[in-house]
Amino acid sequence: MRVIRAEFMGLCFGVRDALAIARETKDPSAVTIYGELVHNPTIQEELSSRGFRVVGEMDRETVELTDRVMVTAHGISQRRMDLLKAQSTEIIDTTCPLVRRVHEATQTLQSENRLVILIGRRKHVEVQGIVEDLRQCIVVEDLDQIIDWKAPLLGVVSQSTTTPELAQRCLSRILELNTHADVRYVDTICRPTRQRQQALEALCQSVSLVIVVGGKHSNNTRQLAQRCLELGCKAIQVESAYELQAEWFADVSVVGLTAGTSTPDGTIEEVAKKLARISPTQRRRHNLETGYETYKNS
Ligand code: SF4
Repeated sequence: MRVIRAEFMGLCFGVRDALAIARETKDPSAVTIYGELVHNPTIQEELSSRGFRVVGEMDRETVELTDRVMVTAHGISQRRMDLLKAQSTEIIDTTCPLVRRVHEATQTLQSENRLVILIGRRKHVEVQGIVEDLRQCIVVEDLDQIIDWKAPLLGVVSQSTTTPELAQRCLSRILELNTHADVRYVDTICRPTRQRQQALEALCQSVSLVIVVGGKHSNNTRQLAQRCLELGCKAIQVESAYELQAEWFADVSVVGLTAGTSTPDGTIEEVAKKLARISPTQRRRHNLETGYETYKNS
């Protein structure tokens, strides 16, 4: 089977840098990683096996910390940073500079007395970190949550991994329902997210099925799969090559490949190799054995 790769996919510089810092860290067993360094099970296992104390995102508040704490690329609020500093002797901060940019933008908008509207996933750690430092912040996940907030000044930003398409649709709706308000929009979508989304749009013009590689907890991986569907392409999200099943490709001669910003290069290569090895014979046999005609998107 022919595999067409998206021009941009996989690890972004923010995640690469965070991983490089972790891999260079001396005495990992003395370090607590404060949440998932990367939303990817392969990397999480690697870090655990090197001795890092890995704390789930839901357990961050209750866990007893070591003397050294590593803050992930998703960042945390200043309030939480101060609490950590009071408890720990050393902070290893791997916050991505493009996440910092979202924090700074919201602080600026708040200082202008604007009601801050953040387009993103309410439960995502990046969003929680931003919200915790603001007096008031409305998190909008989709169009149906947008109302007339009756505020004279609005400031709109996005989580760094929000799709440009969703951000644009939300912004248009905010302007439409808040005609009386002065609305300032700051584009905080990070460049790697934008590049991967644009590359996916180009890819979807050449294929009808895309394999999206990435962790089930990865926001941008999920968004890549969702965007495929919006573009009229089928999408299947897998975390590793082991999940690929030949019968998915019974009627497919060309398949697209993309991956989220937290997917390691090795995982992408394994998936690409396995896809290329799925032969027409294998696909036909599965088709005959299972009577399979169309796959269901999971
Ligand atoms: S996805 Fe964007 S904001 Fe998040 S770590 Fe990567 S570069 Fe930074």
